[in-house]
Amino acid sequence: RTVYLNGDYLPETEAKVSVFDRGFVMADGVYEVTSVLNGKLLDFPGHLKRLARSLAELRMGNPLADEDWLAVHRKLVELNDIDEGIIYLQVTRGNPGDRDFAFPPEDTPQTVVLFTQAKPGLADNPQARTGLRVVSVEDLRWARRDIKTVQLLYPSLAKMEAKAQGADDAWLVEDGFVTEGTSNNTYIVKNGRIITRELSNDILHGITRASLLRYAAEAQMQIEERPFTIEEAQAADEAFFTSASAFVLPVVEIDGVSLGGGKPGPVATRLRELYLEESLKSAI
Ligand code: PMP
Repeated sequence: RTVYLNGDYLPETEAKVSVFDRGFVMADGVYEVTSVLNGKLLDFPGHLKRLARSLAELRMGNPLADEDWLAVHRKLVELNDIDEGIIYLQVTRGNPGDRDFAFPPEDTPQTVVLFTQAKPGLADNPQARTGLRVVSVEDLRWARRDIKTVQLLYPSLAKMEAKAQGADDAWLVEDGFVTEGTSNNTYIVKNGRIITRELSNDILHGITRASLLRYAAEAQMQIEERPFTIEEAQAADEAFFTSASAFVLPVVEIDGVSLGGGKPGPVATRLRELYLEESLKSAI
């Protein structure tokens, strides 16, 4: 695989980062994941906009201009011959030369890494036909989940807890309400209405969420942005989640309670089709 590191395209075994890198010792970095379908980037302007916002919130500069980000993504797709897959992008505050809580001087070069992961069958995911099982886990992450930092230890622990319970993923719960999944935004459907938590610092502002809600509104579907509980979700007609790499995936069991007879519902299924169809139209 060829990866990108600070301006160079290198074999992955030759791409080296300092042990003092702030990303390594302090999780001082942000990331993005963009999906590739038919060799094209999905929702790309949204991902670049959120990247800029995450960097600004952490008082980091944006190391590349938008057209250069696009060029690097396209070059990696080409060099690695990606038809279906994802591109991971990470920017850290770089290598200050020593470990120190204070930020290094502003002119310290940032570390910029991008790599691809081929995922044949990404669009035709069998989980879209079977649905997934989730369990609730307390949300113990920090209070700025709107910033897409590389600090992913708690979601990783929650995912392992879900797997230990025989489920596929965890839905995180804070003050009695679902915030989001370990790496996705969460939704329920009741009487045809799509219900999803409103945007705030409590959740990541999903790019897939934004596009899907726009497509759903254009298709005259009813949307309610408000928090919901696990109990309300268990009593819903359907549940599903969204992320850049999963698109839309149905949830058929929550804490052992089956939804919709344990089968993906019509709304989630339609929304997946709608998302794939519409996002491919604007893919670049
Ligand atoms: N919430 C969290 C915590 C996530 O990690 C992700 C995926 N990065 C999402 C939501 C979904 O965001 P997106 O649709 O932009 O991938």
